Amino acid sequence: MGNLSGKVALVTGSSRGIGRGIAERLAGDGALVAVHYGRNEAAAAETAAAIAEAGGRAFVVGAELGVPGDVDTLVAGLETGLRAHGEAALDILVHNAGINIMGRPIEVLTPEEFDRMVAVNVKAPFFLTQRLLPRLRDGGRIVNISSVSTRIASAHGIGYPLTKGALEVFSQTLAKHLGPRGITVNAVSVGFTHTDMTAEVLADPTNQERNINLTALGRIGRVQDIADAVAFLASDDARWVTGTKLDVTGGVNL
Ligand code: NDP
Repeated sequence: MGNLSGKVALVTGSSRGIGRGIAERLAGDGALVAVHYGRNEAAAAETAAAIAEAGGRAFVVGAELGVPGDVDTLVAGLETGLRAHGEAALDILVHNAGINIMGRPIEVLTPEEFDRMVAVNVKAPFFLTQRLLPRLRDGGRIVNISSVSTRIASAHGIGYPLTKGALEVFSQTLAKHLGPRGITVNAVSVGFTHTDMTAEVLADPTNQERNINLTALGRIGRVQDIADAVAFLASDDARWVTGTKLDVTGGVNL
């Protein structure tokens, strides 16, 4: 049994990429994991199947975020899944689902694109947290997946880092608010990592080389690099860590 046995986790956007890595790692540590997806049900089912195959426990919850009723849909699916597993409460909430509309500097970013990124990256985690707080057990964990783009000016646009900056402020402020309940809230700053989100950019060898050269450790991140850091924050080892941002970027721009 791992150090999260008996715990229940929800990882948003865990059908693919970093979220999938986090879901698999938390399940490997013993947690029952709700694998959330937006549109890609097959990929979420694949994640849950991989977890089961490795001896873990997971169920799938579908809800597109950033649309009216998103939180209601997600919470209803979560409740159904929890009931089916004889659970009612949550211990670990990982806000990982996010979108980046790349290549959109201030001169061209439209109000619709701006609203979409805010809706998925900020509004959804905010109101999902609001709804799930009564279900989150004292001593629980909230982890918000942010981006190195809040620390270095991004070549890919201004709207996305703005939303991740908001998520970081949310983390710190909420950490203070939930401290009396022993709930920790932290952000993880992610650098360039191999996923679908970055596949197109990293397909260009020049881009790949430039991003490798930005890191101290000399490579592009892997989903496991992020998942391991989240597992630490979710564990009892991180009981005295709250309101902070963990830089998991391989040392970008040191
Ligand atoms: P991917 O695009 O590979 O995966 C995104 C995941 O989020 C999928 O599971 C997707 O579900 C889900 N998702 C996206 N939009 C929505 C939505 N509107 N409603 C519900 N679910 C949604 O992304 P990554 O794994 O690369 O990114 C994960 C997190 O890490 C994001 O918050 C991202 O901003 C952050 N990050 C990533 C970096 C990178 O280099 N990859 C760098 C810095 C930060 P579905 O499969 O159903 O579409």
